[in-house]
Amino acid sequence: AFLQGITCICDNGRTLEDHRPIVGDDVVSEILRKAAVLQGRRVIHVNSTYQSGGVAEMILSLVPLMNDVGIETEWKILTGHGDFFTITKNFHNALQGQRIAFSEMEKSQYVVTNQEFSTQLAIDHDLVVIHDPQPLPLISFYEKKQPWIWRCHVDLSKPDGDLWRFLRDYVELYDGMIISHEDYRRANMAKQQRIIHPAIDPLSDKNRDLTDEEIAGLLERYNIPIDKPLVTQISRFDKWKDPVGVVEAFKIAREKADCRLVLCGSMAPDDPEGWTIYRQVEEAAKDLIEQGDVILITAEDHLLVNALQRVSVVIVQKSLKEGFGLTVTEALWKGRPVIAGRVGGIPLQIQDGETGYLIDPTDIAACADRILRVLESPERAVEMGRAGKEYVRKHFLITRLLVDYLDMLTCELG
Ligand code: UDP
Repeated sequence: AFLQGITCICDNGRTLEDHRPIVGDDVVSEILRKAAVLQGRRVIHVNSTYQSGGVAEMILSLVPLMNDVGIETEWKILTGHGDFFTITKNFHNALQGQRIAFSEMEKSQYVVTNQEFSTQLAIDHDLVVIHDPQPLPLISFYEKKQPWIWRCHVDLSKPDGDLWRFLRDYVELYDGMIISHEDYRRANMAKQQRIIHPAIDPLSDKNRDLTDEEIAGLLERYNIPIDKPLVTQISRFDKWKDPVGVVEAFKIAREKADCRLVLCGSMAPDDPEGWTIYRQVEEAAKDLIEQGDVILITAEDHLLVNALQRVSVVIVQKSLKEGFGLTVTEALWKGRPVIAGRVGGIPLQIQDGETGYLIDPTDIAACADRILRVLESPERAVEMGRAGKEYVRKHFLITRLLVDYLDMLTCELG
């Protein structure tokens, strides 16, 4: 099998100091104080390239900051054979509740790939962080000399029982696990389960301030007029993100207030499901697309996402199911009210009526009603946006993630 471990040269050039103007002196001092007792400690993160972009983005932002504050941190990516990732993609779906049966062959291929990978990866660090199910069994191929932590980014609230029992044997070899939400806590586990919420990097292309020229250039390049208020959902074309439901809600809202809908969802070339959903959306919005009042975008462009979140009057995230919902965090950070399904991590982020609106995600009329509320009271929308941004500043920026990691390191390394 083709198998390779890739060391990520992980330097985005950003330092903790760059974050000071955003988070303030107290947060920077807290981080420096917590890092002081951990100087020179060596940490390794291992994940796999094929998982959702959000995880890799977070590691990419976290690792340079950890190094900057004196913790020598490496990042390795497990890459492997296509079959391996088909199996682990199915693991991912089954952990999130889909019923899938796995053969002994598949399970064994999963473990053997990890075994092969272990022969290429020397681990002599003070602490090891393994992200998600792909590299989970690695631990069983090392003589363990340091704490190992399994960082699970997946929604574990209702995993497939057979698969969970199989994976749990590996999880039990770890010193602790990190989950993203209280609801993902597993009963009957001896392991410590630490909750760490995801976070965004305010200095990345997706979130940094943009100049008016940059925004205008992006809108021109992607042919997005702003003569009408924009309602936007940024999401993969995925059934759980319910883009068809967004179109339905938009249609109702548009009867009362002229506006335009943008659905922006990058498309993996090898994701047939994405194109199926895309065609359903096209069908549902046919006339509106012809009139130019619904715009569908399938490009992957972080700066475009950033610009869209900034120019839209309201952001929708009508997910029927959602792990955490980083698109919500990103939109709140742009000072936009967000209307979103009351699912997964979304209620952690939005205060209903204060920074946006939480809706029953199957309630299309409620979604339309909240879109109208925002469109009809622009001053209130600005206030909501301001409050949402402050909430993100306090709870969901990468510096807070760094603090959580420092606390975890102190706890594990004494
Ligand atoms: N995203 C993007 N381009 C798109 C659609 C989504 O860059 O066209 C990004 C989005 O900005 C966010 C991530 O993909 O950072 C999606 O994370 P989220 O937690 O919202 O949902 P997931 O896709 O992981 O279920």
